[in-house]
Amino acid sequence: MEEKYEAIKDLGSGNFGVAKLVQDKKTKELFAVKYIERGKKIDENVQREIINHRSLRHPNIVRFKEVFLTPTHLGILMEYAAGGELFAKICNAGRFSEDEARFFFQQLVSGVSYCHSVEICHRDLKLENALLDGSPTPRLKICDFGYSKSGLLHSQPKSTVGTPAYIAPEVLQRKEYDGKIADVWSAGVTLYVMLVGAYPFEDPEDPRNFRKTIGRIMSAQYSIPDYVRVSADCNHLLSRIFVTDPSKRITLPEIKKHPWFLRNIPKDLSEGEKTNYKETESEQLLLQSVEEIMRIIQEAKTPGEGAKPGEVPLVGSLEVDDADLDSEVDNSGDFVAPI
Ligand code: ATP
Ligand code: MG
Repeated sequence: MEEKYEAIKDLGSGNFGVAKLVQDKKTKELFAVKYIERGKKIDENVQREIINHRSLRHPNIVRFKEVFLTPTHLGILMEYAAGGELFAKICNAGRFSEDEARFFFQQLVSGVSYCHSVEICHRDLKLENALLDGSPTPRLKICDFGYSKSGLLHSQPKSTVGTPAYIAPEVLQRKEYDGKIADVWSAGVTLYVMLVGAYPFEDPEDPRNFRKTIGRIMSAQYSIPDYVRVSADCNHLLSRIFVTDPSKRITLPEIKKHPWFLRNIPKDLSEGEKTNYKETESEQLLLQSVEEIMRIIQEAKTPGEGAKPGEVPLVGSLEVDDADLDSEVDNSGDFVAPI
């Protein structure tokens, strides 16, 4: 199966593995593949990521294609977002204008809102997981369903590795929480970062001080620097998102009615609601079945056999990082807040 695709370049690496750009040798079509090492890394979280991702179909979500095995890895083949991470775009720009930030925020909310409509919450929304397609007016593509959870309650508090910047206060409290409302908070952090070019709850003088950051998150203590001009509507929206008590926080359906959100809303987004993104019957036939996916995942749980050097597309490219050590303790490699 791995013969079908040729690796072109690395796209990025994360907590779970590496992502590569590949080309279908026959059709020349480009795809992204997320490779996860076979063996104990293939756990119920990976399975959930794949099954959740497969079920999602929306213009603002990276489309899942199929899974396949290499001698050493499980490959998750998906749509290639040629524009890279939104994070990189902000790093280059410093920060965005309000119009530009809104343009991306509307798409982010549209994608997340769709996920919620099928009872999937993302739980790891951040600028690194918001990709862009390659078009001149970029379309935002949410990726990485590694922490996604189907169903409303009983979500385990989880967070992003390395930085607590996006975590909602109730998630830090390690109680059950509503993943949809926690997603709203994280979406708010992405909006803030786009507008300001800095994280809302980090002390710029002391950014590595997690304890301080967590204190600020818990009390929803943020400010917008004087040099950034933000309209009253925008300020209002941020103040409704950064509310410690999740039951008092603005919801996604309410955000979609907020005057700041509605300004310059593209037609396809405002009408997108009515669109049924479900695949047609013939498309369904081309999709890898859940049974087939489960069979491949099951096989991936066993370390690959007969992997000869040279046959392996990934040798030497998978770095072992701290996350691997964490996973012994936490089974997901999450950054756990020191409280
Ligand atoms: P983390 O846990 O750190 O968020 P991860 O291991 O779960 O990361 P992903 O977020 O899925 O992995 O992918 C890692 C990076 O690879 C992304 O942030 C992005 O830069 C790149 N990437 C992933 N999927 C694609 C894609 N479909 N198109 C282009 N680039 C991609
Ligand atoms: Mg990621």
